[in-house]
Amino acid sequence: MLEVIVATKNLGKLKEIKDVCPNISFKSLFDIDFKDEIVEDGTTFKENALIKAKAISTKCNKIVLADDSGLSVRALNYQPGIYSARFSKEHDDKSNNELLIKKLQGISDRYAFYTCAMCLCIPGKEPIFVEEICEGEIVDTPRGNGGFGYDPHFYLENLGKCMAELTTEEKNAISHRGKAIRKIAEILNSL
Ligand code: IMP
Repeated sequence: MLEVIVATKNLGKLKEIKDVCPNISFKSLFDIDFKDEIVEDGTTFKENALIKAKAISTKCNKIVLADDSGLSVRALNYQPGIYSARFSKEHDDKSNNELLIKKLQGISDRYAFYTCAMCLCIPGKEPIFVEEICEGEIVDTPRGNGGFGYDPHFYLENLGKCMAELTTEEKNAISHRGKAIRKIAEILNSL
């Protein structure tokens, strides 16, 4: 089975990626015991995905997939964006969500979108990039226990549900990450 290192310690992300491609053996940074600190100092999702993928592929000389993703909220000048994981000073999902809702108090424009940039580094080849988005609205009251991050507050009008109310399969069918990983899977399966 083809082995791919996913440049993440976020098990929510890893589960979503694994679910789309059961025929590929995805390993996390925990699995390969990668402990180096990677400084994500890019200015875009794409740059940060490249930084992560390169840092790991130069060290382990294996196929590496990095996902950099985040939430952009129109009324907040498209923040938190690349700072989504570090929005609040505590850097955890609960505090990030609380800060998001606080900042949106009294604001009626709730349009937001998730972005997922993926960078695939195959030893000896140029990096490959894929970027996808998923649009929705931010709601004050959290709903659901699935997903991770901002999902309990990310409402999908078409489905009448928040992202955290979906199963992994349902989320993958419409999400930024699901769309991106399906494109990456096509590339990996053609190797
Ligand atoms: P990264 O690990 O640096 O790419 O940061 C991703 C952060 O963006 C996560 O910690 C979440 O806060 C947010 N995020 C990205 N994708 C999702 C998603 O699918 N659902 C909810 N939050 C997400």
